[in-house]
Formats: sequence, structure tokens, C-alpha cells
Amino acid sequence: MHIHIFWDSQSPPGLQVPVTRMISSILRMPASVSENHVRMMGYVDERKQIDAPVLLDSIQAYKHRHSLKDPLLLVVHQDLFKNGNSFVFGLARESVGAAVVSTARLSNEYYGRDGNDDDLIDRIIKEGSHEVGHLLGLDHCPDHECIMFKPDTLDELDRKKKALCKICSEHLEGHVLPD
Ligand SMILES: [Zn+2]
Ligand SMILES: [Zn+2]
Repeated sequence: MHIHIFWDSQSPPGLQVPVTRMISSILRMPASVSENHVRMMGYVDERKQIDAPVLLDSIQAYKHRHSLKDPLLLVVHQDLFKNGNSFVFGLARESVGAAVVSTARLSNEYYGRDGNDDDLIDRIIKEGSHEVGHLLGLDHCPDHECIMFKPDTLDELDRKKKALCKICSEHLEGHVLPD
């Protein structure tokens, strides 16, 4: 198995390589990154946000068209929401191996703080591996430092380590069959 990451052209450039390398290392699986080939769908003008489940539909359609079985993560710059949530950092649809994360709320600038690329890289890594973790069969974890903990705020996201806890790590071993 192989993790495919698509990077939308307006997402912060230059971060693809470190992010991809680290997601691969956390989930112990090869990963590659390329420009986005999925049709951008689900943008809602009044909200200036993307309806994340609609975008997942588009990823699903792309995967189907290309008979792509491996997990696909799309990184976008627009803010995401889903029914019942004013925003989501990301969303995964495990049944079809499709996930999306947004960089919109991951920069310091969004919160009026000084920009820092290392902070931004760390957060995309954490969010990206969390969503791909779902695609690999992992559920949410109560350990606040684990990648699979579900953060509601940036502080909660920052408190996580760039690693799976011991239990999730063992679950991953159990779920993912070798090539
Ligand atoms: Zn989650
Ligand atoms: Zn865990």
C-alpha cells in the first residue's frame, strides 16, 4: 500500500516534501505527493468554505475513475465545513480511502500571531496523518498526545505529538497488511 497526497496549487508551497516524508514515517508506509488532479467541488459562496463531504465525493469519483485503491489525501487552502460543524480541520471517508485537510486554520496568521513555517508544517503533518490514520482503520484515541486524538482547537492540535501512541501503533500493525 502507498499513500497518495495531492497538494492544491494554492496551499502553502514548499511544504509538500517535509510533510509527506513525516506522514510516511508516522504511519510507516510509503507516501508520495503531487499536484492536485481532483476536481474542486463543494465551494459555498456565502460561507466562503468548502462542503467537505462534497469534496470527498469528488475524490471518490477520481479514485473510481483511475481504479486507485490506495489511500488518497487532498490538501487544500480553503476552509472546510460539514453539516452540523461550523468548520472541520479535515475529514476522512474510510470506506473509499479518501480524505481531505485544510491549511486555512493551521497558520499562526489566521489567529493574528506571527507566521512560522515550522508550526504550519507540524500542524499539516498532524492533521494529515490523523485523517490518513482513519483510512488505515484507526479510530479516535483518548490520549491527548496521540495523532488519533480528535482536536477541537489549535491548542489541542499543538499539544499532540507527531506520533501514534503505543495502542494505536499496535492497531496499525494489526490493520495494515504488508504488500
Ligand atoms: Zn478524526
Ligand atoms: Zn492513540
